[in-house]
Amino acid sequence: MAATLIDGKAIAREIREGLKARCAALAARGVTPGLAVVLVGEDAASQIYVRNKERACKATGIRSVAVRLPADTTQEALEDKIRALNDDATVDGILVQLPLPAGLDERRVLALIRPEKDVDGFHVQSMGALVTGAAGFLSCTPKGCLELIRRTGVPLAGKEAVVVGRSNIVGKPMALLLLRENATVTVCHSRTADLAAHTRRADILVAAVGRPGMITGDMIKPGAVVIDVGINRLEDGRVVGDVDFASAEPVAGFLTPVPGGVGPMTIAMLLENTLESAEKRA
Ligand code: NDP
Repeated sequence: MAATLIDGKAIAREIREGLKARCAALAARGVTPGLAVVLVGEDAASQIYVRNKERACKATGIRSVAVRLPADTTQEALEDKIRALNDDATVDGILVQLPLPAGLDERRVLALIRPEKDVDGFHVQSMGALVTGAAGFLSCTPKGCLELIRRTGVPLAGKEAVVVGRSNIVGKPMALLLLRENATVTVCHSRTADLAAHTRRADILVAAVGRPGMITGDMIKPGAVVIDVGINRLEDGRVVGDVDFASAEPVAGFLTPVPGGVGPMTIAMLLENTLESAEKRA
């Protein structure tokens, strides 16, 4: 039987409708949530991502503060800008679009963002909160993936979860979130010996690598929940995930499409984190 597709676009739309209502309730109390999006340089993909985030903010009732800085911005000038946004009481969330141009120290910039405004969840304090179980913002993509898994109704406790990829923004926080949900978690990466032996055991499989179609149907346990985080643009312009959809669909129990799976959830979670920050301010 073909996998049930997890419609991230529809789920994100539903979540955003709920956020819109919460934003309106805040506005009635005189508070407009504000998200500052900092973009340094002219990277084409980053410009598209930033524009999409600004549009999503507007549609939800969140004020978006666009901070566009030239590619030759110095570390000092960027840090001054972050400090100013930290001190701006009308800004509830600060997002620095990555990657930064070469020569700028990403770690130092992210570390400057006040954790209460770290709606991307990349600050070491937010990551530490996830590790220790303390309160803090969860990074948006893994948070969105968890919500998609929850919506399948498949309980996570006691399940074998395998995450392929160990980046700080997706793989590692995803693994920690699944662990928090009492799954038994394996993290695979580029040095993993016999990747398929691990993925075939997975009741929940999350692919976050950036290699088109690398997870094929024969690597998937029949009936598994498969979450495809990958976004890969092929030479012919098509965008595909890390999971080979054609061979995975007949095997998986649930599967996210690309596009239309995890991507829309990432933005919805960013809006949700910003709104939560504003609600705390209110
Ligand atoms: P990174 O490049 O930072 O990390 C990729 C990970 O994949 C690394 O941990 C790497 O291992 C691992 N890897 C590479 N090759 C293999 C292999 N052959 N077998 C197993 N593991 C391998 O990528 P990101 O985590 O930032 O992103 C992953 C994908 O998700 C990308 O396609 C990106 O575009 C997409 N993405 C999508 C988002 C969305 O909203 N849908 C948001 C963020 C990312 P090692 O650590 O050993 O190098």
